[in-house]
Amino acid sequence: MILDIGTFEKTLNTEGVRAIGVDLGGHKVVAGRVEGNVIRERFEEPTDPSRQLTPVIAQVARMARELGADKDTPVGICIPGGIDAARERSLMVANFEGWNGLPLRRMFEDELGQCVAIENDANAYALGEGFAGAAKGMTDYVVLTLGTGIGGGIVVGGRLLTGAHGIAGELGHMVLGHDEPCGPGCRGFGHLEAMCGADALERKAREMGLPPVLKDLWLMRDPRVTDPRVTDPKVTDPRVVSLWDLALNDIARGIATLVHILDPQAVIVGGGLRKGAGFMELLEGRIYRYLGEPFKQTMNLCSSALDTDAPIFGAAASALARWSRSSQ
Ligand SMILES: [Zn+2]
Repeated sequence: MILDIGTFEKTLNTEGVRAIGVDLGGHKVVAGRVEGNVIRERFEEPTDPSRQLTPVIAQVARMARELGADKDTPVGICIPGGIDAARERSLMVANFEGWNGLPLRRMFEDELGQCVAIENDANAYALGEGFAGAAKGMTDYVVLTLGTGIGGGIVVGGRLLTGAHGIAGELGHMVLGHDEPCGPGCRGFGHLEAMCGADALERKAREMGLPPVLKDLWLMRDPRVTDPRVTDPKVTDPRVVSLWDLALNDIARGIATLVHILDPQAVIVGGGLRKGAGFMELLEGRIYRYLGEPFKQTMNLCSSALDTDAPIFGAAASALARWSRSSQ
């Protein structure tokens, strides 16, 4: 499977070349038609509430067709789960019961009657940032998405790192804690997502008797920030401050570790958490604390440029990679 960013860029920038990218999530499906560096048209719908295979595949196919999918416009679909190294089969799909171990790519292809590629959603996010976002022109970078869960993707030498079994780059499952239980799809302990994902923070807040508003605030207490919400007593509660403080440290430890292992050109942070006032500046300071020399000089922390469009670009790029290979 070709997952070379330079190939994507050359192919997508060829006059008249276009592809459909679909981001299939547990709650919504977002689809866009990518032409060159832009999404020409996009729309979203709630995911079929049954989350069953047949209606969801039909829904994705219909949305792709409405955007102009045809034999010259391949379709890339990113899914919230692990897929095999050949990008053919689903291994584990979170929140979609009965979707594990299926030849998903072929099933989508049969429904659409044309070329389809599948990719993991966090990996598609990383590919998208490399193709048209904050990592454009880079060959070595890491994308870490901090949201309800924590995901990511690693690009090394211009290629997505997929590992021996296709499931590399599960950055939310770096083990930085001890006994924190990870989600039902994982069942491990002490993973970053179980410590600092928005759901985990909300759970910790609840256990501390704090009101269930934390997830929506996404705020850090940076004295330079004049966001009026910072004076909200719900946010200035010392227990909230300490909760954020610990989370920030854990995320910083994770990023510093990635930098030490991978020596990337940049670490790109996506997801809702980074949008909190002052978050990126505070995080950067913490990362430096954990970095050793000479990484303090090479560290380059960036914010995602494409946000929720990143997986659309990445899925479209995956489609083009498969399409250009099969039409050769
Ligand atoms: Zn986990």
